[in-house]
Amino acid sequence: MADKRTILQIEEAFSDYQCPICTLVETMNDNHIRILLYESVNDRSLRKRFMKEEGFCKRHAGKALEAGSPLNQAILYDALLEDILKRLEKDKPLHTQTPCLFCEKEKDNEAYLVGAFKDGLELTDFTEAYKSNGILCATHLEKVLALLKRDRMKRETLKTVTKEKYAKLSEVLKSIKSKHDYRNKDDAWSGAERILWKRVVHLVRQNDDDRQ
Ligand SMILES: [Zn+2]
Ligand SMILES: [Zn+2]
Repeated sequence: MADKRTILQIEEAFSDYQCPICTLVETMNDNHIRILLYESVNDRSLRKRFMKEEGFCKRHAGKALEAGSPLNQAILYDALLEDILKRLEKDKPLHTQTPCLFCEKEKDNEAYLVGAFKDGLELTDFTEAYKSNGILCATHLEKVLALLKRDRMKRETLKTVTKEKYAKLSEVLKSIKSKHDYRNKDDAWSGAERILWKRVVHLVRQNDDDRQ
């Protein structure tokens, strides 16, 4: 069983049409980037990993750029740049395909959260909270369902509840489409429609690959 604190954290992250696992993975990732950039840049083992993994992937390099701390990034990237210069000199490959430090960590966090979500379904409060204001994105729904392979009851409950929510979102998108029909052209999008269509994008998009 995952620790209660994590299960509670997931429950607290339930919010209108946003996947709690995606939300928490993102928060943990941001914290990890901040810690590395602001506190651990002089940690030799971390610097070594950064070198070994040849920096960050495109997505995480972008996130790190947004996080600031230019001096610390300059320290990390200068070491990497010197290494690239050496390889160039020796006609060695400039990049080899290694997973990025943050991608690896993200995968571990995600696997733990998916397991904790499944454990949360053992608790009535958690299950009720999911029914009233939770939703999982398609990627995480599939991962939790896979863990529930042997628990038909919970599997069906999770499927039924989530299906209802997805169906509601589909109605929202249909309503948006109908408003673009010339016969209804004077109907404006409602406030909820303006928000929810974007939530759908997040709920059904596929997770990024490690390296892009
Ligand atoms: Zn998700
Ligand atoms: Zn990455």
